[in-house]
Amino acid sequence: MTDAKIPLRAKVASSVSRTAAALSRAAGRGDGSVIGGWIGLKIDPELLAHLSAGRAIALVSGTNGKTTTTRLTTAAVGVLGRVATNSFGANMPTGHTSALAKAGSTPYAVLEVDEHYLAQVLEATEPHVVALLNLSRDQLDRAKEVAMMAQLWRAALVQHPDVRVVANADDPMVVWAATPPADPARGHIPPHVTWFSAGQRWHDDSWVCPECGSTIERSGEQWRCTGCPLRRPEPQWTVEDDGVLDPTGAWHKIQLQLPGKVNLGNAATALAVAAEFGVRPVDAVSRLGTVTSVAGRYAQVDRDGRNIRLLLAKNPASWLEAFDMADEAPTLLSINARDPDGLDTSWLFDVDFAPLRGRQVLITGDRAYDLAVRLDVNGVPFQHVRTFDDAIRAAPPGRLEVIANYTAFQDIRAELDRVN
Ligand SMILES: [Zn+2]
Repeated sequence: MTDAKIPLRAKVASSVSRTAAALSRAAGRGDGSVIGGWIGLKIDPELLAHLSAGRAIALVSGTNGKTTTTRLTTAAVGVLGRVATNSFGANMPTGHTSALAKAGSTPYAVLEVDEHYLAQVLEATEPHVVALLNLSRDQLDRAKEVAMMAQLWRAALVQHPDVRVVANADDPMVVWAATPPADPARGHIPPHVTWFSAGQRWHDDSWVCPECGSTIERSGEQWRCTGCPLRRPEPQWTVEDDGVLDPTGAWHKIQLQLPGKVNLGNAATALAVAAEFGVRPVDAVSRLGTVTSVAGRYAQVDRDGRNIRLLLAKNPASWLEAFDMADEAPTLLSINARDPDGLDTSWLFDVDFAPLRGRQVLITGDRAYDLAVRLDVNGVPFQHVRTFDDAIRAAPPGRLEVIANYTAFQDIRAELDRVN
């Protein structure tokens, strides 16, 4: 994209957006990407479209794993040249606008997109490829949205038959959204889809077929609807042992600095998305290993002889993943129920905490007592601590895993930042 091609209003808007972001940073109000993008879009509502023109763009959306997958995909596409990305997780159009304005001219962009905004961002950015990771309920207050979201995604993809789709074969909601029926009357051809399998542990939000309402039957990794032809498509990219099988059948060992099988799945997705730009997995795998913590997640901090690792778990599906990632070590769980977390904590009863049995479990946070009730019912012994410092004192030297939901996670990060 050359500057000459951008309309004057967009140039002004983009420059004001960068200035506002810088001012916001200087004032200590976060990284400024939301306010900068907001002001830019006020001046030029088409700014995101203008900033996207001339770039080859990948969008990454889904309930879980999008921040990490975006980071890994950015690393992989980086084989080809400079990549703009919204690395602070500001995943709505204001954040995208700000990220692109800040990056200046780049041949590529990889953008994390809040699942609610996928249609709007598809429209504005005209991406080359969109990655659909998964759809599970985020907070209980938003539970009904899983099927509705699948419907919105499907409708959005119908409007963009040229976009390439990289989608999760293990999630019935995603498969249904990614394969709208052909409509010869309207000249509509279903999109080009590449399927990946990242191994999905959470199934509780997809027992009912989004097409016909019948039960979805599972057997091993396969699933199929008992009432219609919807079934698991054959994935071209799969996780096998500690590596990824590509569509040619070649296996690539993956060495990540991020824990857990779930991140191996995210790496497979990143390689599949990058391949849509022509990146060969063999060229990209070593770059995946350069990704360390992502917006503070998986960050490790040493304090008082404890090696503290932060894991974010924001909904039932991601709690299961966090248990999978955590070492068999003393574990602090922290739960809040402020606005960004969802106010209702009854989802705690959808999570099986049994994997924590046998570990020292410490609990804290605004809603520690809700967690206490849950753990008690689940037969997991625990100790309540009032503060993060108390938690550190209560754990022996060595690894301390911290699993927290959104605002609790931010509180603990702030606490650690004050000292480090
Ligand atoms: Zn069905």
